[in-house]
Amino acid sequence: MASQAAALVKEATDLVGLISEVTEVKGAGAAAKALCPFHADKDTPSLSVSADKGVWHCFGCGLGGDALDFVQQSQGVGFRESLDILARRAGIDLGPSSARRTRAQRLDRIRWQASEFCHELLRSDPSAARARAYLRRVHGYQSGDVTGFRLGWAPTDPSVVPEHLRTLGVSARDMVEARVARNGGGRPFATHIGRVLYPVVTGHERVSGFAAEDGDGRIAPPVGGEGSLYGLGQARSVIAREGSALVVPDCPSVVAYHRAGLTGAVAPCGPKLTAAHLQTVGRFADRAVVVTTDEQAATSLLDSDLSSDDVALYIAEARYERPADLTRDEALSAVQAAIPLAEARLTTTLAGYRGSGNASARRRKLEAAKRVIQAETDPNTRMELAAAAASLTGLPVELILGSASLLDSSEDRTPTAAGLSL
Ligand SMILES: [Zn+2]
Repeated sequence: MASQAAALVKEATDLVGLISEVTEVKGAGAAAKALCPFHADKDTPSLSVSADKGVWHCFGCGLGGDALDFVQQSQGVGFRESLDILARRAGIDLGPSSARRTRAQRLDRIRWQASEFCHELLRSDPSAARARAYLRRVHGYQSGDVTGFRLGWAPTDPSVVPEHLRTLGVSARDMVEARVARNGGGRPFATHIGRVLYPVVTGHERVSGFAAEDGDGRIAPPVGGEGSLYGLGQARSVIAREGSALVVPDCPSVVAYHRAGLTGAVAPCGPKLTAAHLQTVGRFADRAVVVTTDEQAATSLLDSDLSSDDVALYIAEARYERPADLTRDEALSAVQAAIPLAEARLTTTLAGYRGSGNASARRRKLEAAKRVIQAETDPNTRMELAAAAASLTGLPVELILGSASLLDSSEDRTPTAAGLSL
């Protein structure tokens, strides 16, 4: 597909005309020559252009190739984008949203370029020695974790990353638009300084944003598009194969679950888990297990109105102070003990119902339980929940479902009887 498009686009491109936009081409045919724009080519033109073969070559610096290579070299873009640029130039439509996709892809690629640079720093640069020690001590990360998740070190000097991107041909404006830099009085300053970076890898040479961790373990959650998930690039195929995603609270937890062998773990980008994140999971799986690591997180999930038409939601409780403490056994047993979120909500809502002598408190609990049940779209699930609520309250299922008549509930169908028979 891409090679077909490349052939089409090259066929439609006048190579001499293309190169002339950058440097003056003298002579014609096999003798066409130009001053090379890629090295300090003073007075003897060393770049030769062969229009019929559609290739160029510089005898000075050794660069060469076809029209796509020329665009990549002169504009600092990748293959895909050189294809889009030449297609636009030749008036060829490669697809409906080609231009918009190109823009988004360029920004993704700039973030990826920044990410790879910071990754190399974290792996081996002396300036990142403390960061490496911190990650080993606090998170127990081995070099495989750092490599697998392309973790990076954002240097404390805010000019280092922009300077590197500049050498790759990235403009200050694009750095700002890609959110890897801010505009500091005409000069780009790195957005993240003195932080460990967790890139949100969304595809080949694509990064949609970063989470950043400081030396006190505070993590600014990753910024990405709405509904984007940290770790999806690494977990996608496992999630699709298992039909189930593990949604954990933060980036270090994602790394910890992967280390524990549960490689379908992702974390929400943004401050909290939303329906948009679940919609993303729903593109690959029909089940999401949300892992909570403390009482507060569990309570707020149960109290939330988070729901999804795309995936069945489960809640799992894995109690750990630090993700580094998570063992494979704990991770596995937490996931195996996961229960449907609606069922957990119901149990919480109806806790203490039977023992309560306060009629209005009981009525409030019952109303809340009905709302939990009615929020379910699947009729079978609603029935199951109603039966569970019936056994928690001792009331007939029909009353809980809100269907009027108590009279048709025969003795052996009431949950009280069912409960007694256990
Ligand atoms: Zn050259």
